[in-house]
Amino acid sequence: MIYLDNAATSWPKPEKVYLAADEALRRGGNPGRSGHKLSIAAGRSVEETRMLLARLFAIPRPEAIAFTLNTTDALNLALKGILKEGDHVVTSSMEHNSVARPLEALKSSGVEVTKVATSPLSGVDIQDVRASIKENTKLMVFTHVSNVTGTINPISDIGELCRERGILLLVDAAQSAGVIPIDVMEMDIDLLAFPGHKSLLGPAGTGGLYIRDGLVLNPIREGGTGSFSELLTQPEKIPDRYESGTLNAPGIAGLGAGVRFLLEQGVGTLREKESALANRLLEGISQISGITVFGPPAGRLRTGVVSLVVDGMEPTQTAAILDDAFDIAVRAGLHCAPDTHRMLGTLETGGTVRFSIGAFNTEEEIDLCLEALRSIAEEGGLGEVRE
Ligand code: PMP
Repeated sequence: MIYLDNAATSWPKPEKVYLAADEALRRGGNPGRSGHKLSIAAGRSVEETRMLLARLFAIPRPEAIAFTLNTTDALNLALKGILKEGDHVVTSSMEHNSVARPLEALKSSGVEVTKVATSPLSGVDIQDVRASIKENTKLMVFTHVSNVTGTINPISDIGELCRERGILLLVDAAQSAGVIPIDVMEMDIDLLAFPGHKSLLGPAGTGGLYIRDGLVLNPIREGGTGSFSELLTQPEKIPDRYESGTLNAPGIAGLGAGVRFLLEQGVGTLREKESALANRLLEGISQISGITVFGPPAGRLRTGVVSLVVDGMEPTQTAAILDDAFDIAVRAGLHCAPDTHRMLGTLETGGTVRFSIGAFNTEEEIDLCLEALRSIAEEGGLGEVRE
């Protein structure tokens, strides 16, 4: 199997991720809940992962990171924890439904939303972002990288603008955490929502939200935190305030091993490798007739997410042929980002076929993929992969 669906969730994981999750599950213990050895060991393992994540994103205090179920959960906490009636929020037409849907829901509570237009080649234009600021603009929320086209948004420029104007910046790092080096201080990011299960190489059911020092959100969930149990109200202390209920300790232990792997390899090194593979794929595709690629071409600033359509063929059909005849796993459809497809003109035609490269893909796999695509585009997919 050639796995090119890393934008949905990464696979395989580094061996140590499986081992760490397995060890934590066998060891047991509920972190922060009891005083016995197992609970203490589970708590230490959770704090170790928090510390590794802080190192990865240059976050000064690990407690500023709250563990969540995934990116969506972190985005909901950030958006619903900050925005209230009368606030204005600026976002883009390149967002995932995990941003677009909570914002749509917040409109009915009196939150004003402005969506700036985006270009598939360069993302949002900082001038458009500047022009959209109003007196009541409280927050800006942008995806760092499009999950459809691999386009990278100018987050540092947006961060600088937000800082100048006293506006909070929330970044959806679902497609950038572990792919692009992120420094929350240097990039002026106030809130960073990230998945554990994509390029941070951890298990499903993990993610987190970084919340800048001094920023207090309304928790979207109240309950037991293992601390301040005498209080009927949610504690102020972080990260407890945002972590009600038993944490996914085995998943978080696995995530720690994934982040350790990234710190050892270097996000920059992995990025170079993924960029080289993306360029190989894009250059190869440009030699095949009958394929339309969306997003930045080879050599331009982008990640390893490549969307295309084989002309005259439904994306789901192309993906099914790749799976059935060539054992290549990709994703077809709208990828939960309908606005992006509206911009690309693919909303009414079934979206795109998305290839997403991960840390463990190889040149040989990309070449086999190109052979498969050539066969599909030129022979309708009935030919075999050439040796
Ligand atoms: N935002 C973007 C840009 C994404 O690509 C995704 C995952 N497809 C999400 C948010 C949601 O991530 P999760 O599945 O971790 O909730």
